[in-house]
Amino acid sequence: MKIVYQNIHLANSHTLAVYEANGGYKALLKAFDLGSDEVIEEVKRSGIRGRGGAGFPAGLKWSFIPKNDPRPKYLTCNADEGEPGTCKDRDIIRYDPHRLIEGMIICGFAVGIQQGYIYIRGEFYREAERLQDAIDEAYAKGILGENVCGRGVRFDLAIHRGGGAYVCGEETGLIESIEGKKGQPRLKPPFPANIGLYGCPTVINNVETLASIPTIIERGGAWYGGLGVAKSSGTKIFSVSGHVNKPGNYEVELGIPLKSLLEDHAGGVRGGWSNLKGVIPGGSSSPILPAEVCATITMDYDSLGKAGTMLGSGAVIVLDKSVCIVRAVARLSRFYRHESCGQCTPCREGTGWLAQIMTRMEAGQGTLEDIDLLQDICANIGGKTICALGDAAAGPVMGAIRAFKEEFIYHVEHGRCMAG
Ligand code: SF4
Repeated sequence: MKIVYQNIHLANSHTLAVYEANGGYKALLKAFDLGSDEVIEEVKRSGIRGRGGAGFPAGLKWSFIPKNDPRPKYLTCNADEGEPGTCKDRDIIRYDPHRLIEGMIICGFAVGIQQGYIYIRGEFYREAERLQDAIDEAYAKGILGENVCGRGVRFDLAIHRGGGAYVCGEETGLIESIEGKKGQPRLKPPFPANIGLYGCPTVINNVETLASIPTIIERGGAWYGGLGVAKSSGTKIFSVSGHVNKPGNYEVELGIPLKSLLEDHAGGVRGGWSNLKGVIPGGSSSPILPAEVCATITMDYDSLGKAGTMLGSGAVIVLDKSVCIVRAVARLSRFYRHESCGQCTPCREGTGWLAQIMTRMEAGQGTLEDIDLLQDICANIGGKTICALGDAAAGPVMGAIRAFKEEFIYHVEHGRCMAG
C-alpha cells in the first residue's frame, strides 16, 4: 500500500501535468467542499502521527491553533531531514512535490493559514530547485495565490533554504532560522501553536506528514486509520541503510515486523539473518536493538517504545557482525558534539565529554570506570535540556551499553574491538 510514494514510478512524476492526470489536487477540491472543521476531523480520525520523529498526532496539533486570533498564522513544513540515516523526504520533494504542496494548502485551509514556508536543508540544492519549479507551476495555474482554484481561499508558499545545522530540524530552532537568527531552539512553553513564527500561531509538520494529507482527505480518515496497527495508523516510509542487500526507502504499513522489512523488502541482511548484530530503528538518536529483539519486534510507535527505543524518523540502520559498536557509537557522539548549539550546559558539556570518552575508548585507552561515567553523563543530559538534542546524544550511548556492554568491556580489557 502506497500513500506518499504512489506516483514516484511514473515518468515526470514531479510535474503538475502528471500529478493532475493521476488525481492530483482533487483532494483539495474535496477539502473545500467538506469545510475546514470537517477536514481537521478527518485528519484526527486518520490517527496520523507526525512522521518527523516526535510522533505527535497531526490533527490534534492543527486543532491547537487558536481560531479567533487576529494575528496572522503560519504553516511551516520541516524539510530539514538532518537525522543521520533518514533520506525519505528528499525523495518526496524530488519525485512528487505537488503532493506536498497540496497537503500544505489543505492544512492552510483547515486551520485558516494564508502563508506557508518550506524550510529545506541547504544541501538539498536540486530538490529546492524542483520544489520551486512546482510552486511556480502551481501559481501559474491558480492553485496557489490569492484565489486558490477559484474558491476564494488565499494560500501563498515560499521556500526557505537552511544552512545545514542538525538542530534546525527542531521546530523552534527552525523558526528562529526562518526569522534570520541563529538556529537555537527556544524554551517551551510557549509552544509554536500559540507563539511560533514571528510570534504568531504556527503549525509545523514534516514533509511526509503533509504529503499524506491528500490521500487521507480523498479516501477518508477512517480508511487511513484502518491501515497499520492501533495507535500507529497508516503507512510509513522507512529509510533502510547499512548492511542490507537492497538499501532504500520503503513505504509499508506501520506495524510490519522488522524482520519482514529487512528480509522481504530490503533484500535481507548482508551475509544472512544470522550475521545481524543490531539495528538502529529510527534514526541515529534512537537506541540500538540487539539481533534477538530484531527477530520479533514490529515497527510501530508502541512496540519500539516498550523496547526502550523509538520509531523516530524511520531511518533503519542495519549493522552486521563486522561492526565495532564502540567505534560506531564514538562516531555518533562526535556528530552530536558538533551539532550541539551550545545553549545549555548539560548538552554543550555533556556531548563533548561523551565524544571524548568514546574516542579514547575506541582508541583502546578507556577504563571500566569510563563505562559507568558514560552512563552517569547520559543520565545528567537526558530530560535536562532545552531541546531533544541532548536526549538524542545520550540515546545511542545508553542503548549501546545496555545491549552490548560486553563489547565495551572487551574494548577496555583488550584495547581493540571484539569484531576483529
Ligand atoms: Fe542547544 Fe543542545 Fe540545548 Fe538543544 S539541548 S538547545 S542543541 S545546547
